[in-house]
Amino acid sequence: MAKNIVVIGAGVAGLTTALQLSKKSGYNIVVAAKHMPGDYDIEYASPWAGANYMPVSISGTDAAEWDKNTWGPLEDLARNHPGAGVHFQECEIHNRAKDVGSATANWFKELLSSNPWFARVVPNFRSLPKEALRPGIDSATVFTSVCINTAIYLPWLVSQCLSNGVIFKRGVFDHILDAAASGIHPNGRVDLVVNCTGLMASKLGGVQDTSVVPARGQIVIVRNDSGKMLDMSGTDDGDEEACYVMTRAAGGGTILGGSYQKGNWESQPDPNLAIRIMKRAVTMCPALTDGKGIEHLDIIRHGVGLRPVREGGTRIEKERIGGVLVVHNYGAGGAGYQSSYGCAQAAVDLIDRALNVQAKL
Ligand code: FAD
Repeated sequence: MAKNIVVIGAGVAGLTTALQLSKKSGYNIVVAAKHMPGDYDIEYASPWAGANYMPVSISGTDAAEWDKNTWGPLEDLARNHPGAGVHFQECEIHNRAKDVGSATANWFKELLSSNPWFARVVPNFRSLPKEALRPGIDSATVFTSVCINTAIYLPWLVSQCLSNGVIFKRGVFDHILDAAASGIHPNGRVDLVVNCTGLMASKLGGVQDTSVVPARGQIVIVRNDSGKMLDMSGTDDGDEEACYVMTRAAGGGTILGGSYQKGNWESQPDPNLAIRIMKRAVTMCPALTDGKGIEHLDIIRHGVGLRPVREGGTRIEKERIGGVLVVHNYGAGGAGYQSSYGCAQAAVDLIDRALNVQAKL
């Protein structure tokens, strides 16, 4: 008999999990969420992401495995599905010796390596010759990556799910068991709830995972084109700030970032930080303004998103809460897109197994 599933959350985690599940027979799926693609809200990280594939996961970890398993699907989207809003773009990682030991450089350890695990996954990974580096940069690597226009990609995921029969509805749950209550699934009984609530897993009753905290990311979106993606090992403005640019597919503008402010829930852009972000971006990537100053940036909007960072990494686990089977997939931090298919597949495997062995639990 087909199983009835409720996925809480319509961010990249919930939508990708619902999509992968909907490709299998035997599941009737409802996605219920407070926020849906098209919404912009501080409790909804996915629309704010760049988003690109730039792994920081460490070789040999689950996180690296999820990232590795996501490259193939993203490459396929960029190559064969133009409607998804994902395109290929070269990605340069600039390394300054003076950043060694800083929080950002430690976090980026694998990314900054001249031989990271993903060098054998992404195409065209290489080191740049010294003469190609601008002053102040001690080494750099480059590879072919993808950049996702989240304003196209999230609705595209919804549309793929709809084509596979997934039902979408708004729902705001105080407790995870509310998602299994009558009236949520049109078939009545709910066999399993998938928890893809991101940062708000820290507040959801029955879960309240306080190891999930925000890492605040402030961005400026501009009409200027960077031509490629660039990322730096650090900034001169403190450990909570970052410097990256990427141009989204299909006219999505260029994202200038950023910040990584742990524990900070502030939803409004800080104008001083915005100026620093723009100054660093035009210095790192003169192509943005033909070598001119930040007054030559054509701003679309300022934005703030909160990365759902979880101590111990993304939680992909099965649990029984109040008699209801739950599979969690939340807490991807700054890697929700680049790990999306790997995480979704791991969650789907758990769901398959949980429902087949339910009697033994
Ligand atoms: P969210 O997108 O936050 O979605 C959570 C969903 O759960 C929402 O639909 C919400 O309404 C729903 N929900 C929560 N609680 C409840 C409740 N109680 N009842 C009902 N619904 C509920 N990642 C990358 O891979 N590459 C990048 O380049 C990248 N850049 C980023 C840049 C910035 C500035 C930021 C902020 C993030 C970036 N990320 C990037 C990280 C990525 O955005 C996140 O990891 C990802 O969006 C998390 O997705 P999610 O689906 O888990 O959570």
